[in-house]
Amino acid sequence: MKLNGPIEVTWSHGEPFPHPHGVGFKCFYCFKKVKGGGVTRLKEHLAGATGNVADCPNVPAYIKDLMSSELVKGKVKRKKVVRFISLLKRRLWQQT
Ligand SMILES: [Zn+2]
Repeated sequence: MKLNGPIEVTWSHGEPFPHPHGVGFKCFYCFKKVKGGGVTRLKEHLAGATGNVADCPNVPAYIKDLMSSELVKGKVKRKKVVRFISLLKRRLWQQT
């Protein structure tokens, strides 16, 4: 799997596109296009179960976990983030 950037950055998993009602996104996993909502909506699409946007049918479980974690919400300290990321990367590596 190839990411567009750091795994904890939501925009690594989708592509923004401009829209009159705010930035929309195209999901890299299911290629769904959502108009508006920006990065938050993309995060919700990947994390699922928010009710604001359709859940992503193709997102890998660990990305889903990551997106629904406090980490992405920016509430976790950097040190903890680094540990979590290295764990995730190990899991990614094992899958290939
Ligand atoms: Zn998706």
